[in-house]
Amino acid sequence: MTETTQTGGSEALATLHRVFGYEAFRGEQEAVIEHVVAGGDAVVLMPTGGGKSLCYQIPSLVRPGTGVVVSPLIALMQDQVDALRALGVRAGFINSTLDFDERRVVEAEFLAGELDLLYLAPERLRLDATLELLSRGKISVFAIDEAHCVSQWGHDFRPDYLSLSLLGERWPDVPRVALTATATRATHQEITQRLNMPTARHFEASFDRPNIQYRIVPKADPKKQLLSFLKDEHAGDAGIVYCLSRRSVEATAEFLARNGIEAVPYHAGLDAGTRAAHQSRFLREDGLVVVATIAFGMGIDKPDVRFVAHLDLPKSVEGYYQETGRAGRDGLPSTAWMAYGLNDVIQQRKLINSGEGDEAFRRRAASHLDAMLALCETAQCRRGQLLAYFGQDAEPVGCGNCDTCVTPPETWDGTVAAQKVLSTVVRLQRERGQKFGAVQIVDILLGRRTAKVIQFDHDQLSVFGIGEDLGEGEWRGVVRQLLAQGLLAVEGEYGTLVLTEASGSVLRREREVPLRKEPKKPATSRSGSGA
Ligand code: ADP
Ligand code: ZN
Repeated sequence: MTETTQTGGSEALATLHRVFGYEAFRGEQEAVIEHVVAGGDAVVLMPTGGGKSLCYQIPSLVRPGTGVVVSPLIALMQDQVDALRALGVRAGFINSTLDFDERRVVEAEFLAGELDLLYLAPERLRLDATLELLSRGKISVFAIDEAHCVSQWGHDFRPDYLSLSLLGERWPDVPRVALTATATRATHQEITQRLNMPTARHFEASFDRPNIQYRIVPKADPKKQLLSFLKDEHAGDAGIVYCLSRRSVEATAEFLARNGIEAVPYHAGLDAGTRAAHQSRFLREDGLVVVATIAFGMGIDKPDVRFVAHLDLPKSVEGYYQETGRAGRDGLPSTAWMAYGLNDVIQQRKLINSGEGDEAFRRRAASHLDAMLALCETAQCRRGQLLAYFGQDAEPVGCGNCDTCVTPPETWDGTVAAQKVLSTVVRLQRERGQKFGAVQIVDILLGRRTAKVIQFDHDQLSVFGIGEDLGEGEWRGVVRQLLAQGLLAVEGEYGTLVLTEASGSVLRREREVPLRKEPKKPATSRSGSGA
């Protein structure tokens, strides 16, 4: 027994060196691989980029037979297989993009025992033909990627995943490994149950990146804020600045360069040569800043990225975690900095409203955004909130290395302010049958006779000027937080503001609305550890 494990272990390591060219296993990889090579089932929770693939690729190579990988990411299969083939691994896939002849070739290779890895879309496993094919070949291991798709309560539920429980019944002797980067405790239990893996061992890597300091500041003049952040705290450091659009990537890179920071742009609109040149400069040079769309960073493994800055709001906490995770791989203090404001919320909501995709898709996108907004607006420890999102416990007293821990935000009772905003929206809609965006609402509250206010007679509304007690920035902050709390919604592609079901309780004075105070000056103090 010990001997088998040892052989399995050293063979796994030898495969890591020989096939993948890596020095050592990372984190939980070795334990997972040893367990699966020895024939055990495993449920693996690891952050994106944590190295899940090797957890089934190496067992597939070490154990006799073909490793069958179930993955919903059809678009990535070709790339994954190409990458494996480039390493000399015999890999293939079967999904709807193959024509009949191509499929026949892969099937023949599988039956002849000429495949180390076979990638399948989950819907394939509902077909008798697929099950029959699989039972005629030899299978070394089943890998179920994105295993959280089996959860009916999750964002990514795929009915086809429910049928995967039959794998254990039909192939009781083939070990199964289920992998995911997103799983709450409840989802984890659901995975075990629905995939029928009661004896699986659970491996859970921590999502915590203690050397990364998380900071989210209110957006005022983002380029200038970024510049002082870089000059004050990261002069001469390598880092990545993420922007949403190509245009703002270009403008920001140019602005930084003009202000004495070595910065280059990176986005899909640049020609391949320029992109490659900028990427290799980033990897090679010491203190280059790359301003990029999210196209940049995938597969880039530069250990000394000292900061990741976001000038626009990521669409989800997963995206935020993945992008900020590119900082500080060497374990040294690094900063994840983001500027965030009302326009980000409206922009993202508009994108969802006008984007393609069915209703379910939109609802999923909206709930991803809600979680991201909750992280931005929290008055609690950011790290705690981030870890809780991934279903992990954090220090109950706070991490001491995020902005809300270092400078706890003040809160105030925003109930009356919220009522003023909501009544203005109600008046416009009920009395005039009109819907307007945030700018007009704030102008009305502040009693400003702008051209647009005059044009629509909005100075005649009873709510005109009822908000002179607060400034423009504060009102925008109120609107932003109401949007984030779901007490106000953005409609259509013009971003008009409308009430939600929850708004009524505020208007009826049935609930209070605690809000974060907008800091006068964004905090920029640096703290290494503890505070
Ligand atoms: P995940 O599927 O968890 O998102 P991947 O399996 O794609 O992560 O791995 C992320 C990156 O880390 C890949 O570029 C991979 O080659 C690299 N990687 C994984 N394990 C190791 C290791 N032990 N040593 C070095 N690099 C590794
Ligand atoms: Zn904290």
